[in-house]
Amino acid sequence: MPWTAVPTLEESKRKIEELVKAKGFGNTPQDIPNKLLFAFIELGEAGDSWKKGKAVEETVEELIDVIFYVLDASRLIAPNANMDEAFEKKWAKNMGRPFQYGEGFRSKQAG
Ligand SMILES: [Mg+2]
Repeated sequence: MPWTAVPTLEESKRKIEELVKAKGFGNTPQDIPNKLLFAFIELGEAGDSWKKGKAVEETVEELIDVIFYVLDASRLIAPNANMDEAFEKKWAKNMGRPFQYGEGFRSKQAG
């Protein structure tokens, strides 16, 4: 079914669950460590793709693989967590933090 709208993290998580069940991938708490490991591996593939100057679409696809594994692990780690709410909560937390790192912090130090 083609996408007609941008999925939320929760919708994406359900789509991934559907994929995992349809393909017979690991679907128990015992599979959590592997899913987290695979997320790292996909992140490495994204870095390698970018480093080698591959088509940006390929690097983006690897980043989506990372998201797949992260969301898949999240539903096994915390079946009742709402990842959209968790995202908003963490976003607000980070936005509310004082400058500690990055250019904003450096320019404050320099000033
Ligand atoms: Mg990949």
